[in-house]
Amino acid sequence: DLSPISTTGVPEELRPLIVAFNEMMSRLEENLQAQQRFIADAAHQMRTPLTGLRMQTELALDETDPELLHDSLSRIARSTERASHLINQLLTLARAESSSEKIYAVEQVDLEMLVREVAHDLFPRAQARAIDLGVEDTGWPLLIDGNPVMLNEMIANLVDNAIKYTPEGGSVTIRTQATDFAILEVEDTGIGIPEEDRERVFERFYRVLGSDADGSGLGLPIVREIAEMHRASVTLKPNPAGKGSIAQVVFPRSYARRRPLDDT
Ligand code: ADP
Repeated sequence: DLSPISTTGVPEELRPLIVAFNEMMSRLEENLQAQQRFIADAAHQMRTPLTGLRMQTELALDETDPELLHDSLSRIARSTERASHLINQLLTLARAESSSEKIYAVEQVDLEMLVREVAHDLFPRAQARAIDLGVEDTGWPLLIDGNPVMLNEMIANLVDNAIKYTPEGGSVTIRTQATDFAILEVEDTGIGIPEEDRERVFERFYRVLGSDADGSGLGLPIVREIAEMHRASVTLKPNPAGKGSIAQVVFPRSYARRRPLDDT
């Protein structure tokens, strides 16, 4: 039973303790409810690809024509890939949530290098959609404190979205800027995000109505979790060029100083 403990009849000096205890319990209960909602949503999301897989498999079992059988199996392979991507996303979210710093080593990383890595990895995807993927960086190392694997995942999610929601022939630009902060921007010339959805798209499983590209609605929640791990803020705004949007992540710059060699 998680209901609050009453303070009636409790000596004056013990009351603050009970009040604090009740507050703690109510926060725990909220957390528990959020977890249960997440599990229910996740199970629901997994059902769609699994139902598809079951139907496709049944069809394939009855197929005698070798060519049609091959088509069937290709569809099964694609559905399996989608299901496994979904599971990976759910795992990433769960991990990013479970007070990351204990699990993930934090080191000094160069944001510019990460950006070049992601641009390199996603270049084929952009090319396949005739999208011009470019990098505008400061040309200097831009150091932040973070986990390179998580940061790579975060940037890749933003760039992947930018490519996915931009029609063929458009452009995607990844930009870094150094001020008091380290700033990362991913700009696209795509379909844009309606103002009323610009905050909601960070909710788990939320997708803008009519965005027909393949997706789970987990990419941006992952982006936000990872940003928060790094004390960074992430926002979406319309591209001032008039078409598409800009995702902006603002990080604190690295405060770590390398020790001089003789300082031990
Ligand atoms: P997914 O892309 O898997 O659906 P996300 O959490 O990454 O999930 O994004 C949530 C929704 O936000 C998308 O379904 C899409 O409607 C919208 N969205 C995200 N990024 C962009 C973008 N760059 N341009 C337009 N819409 C976007």
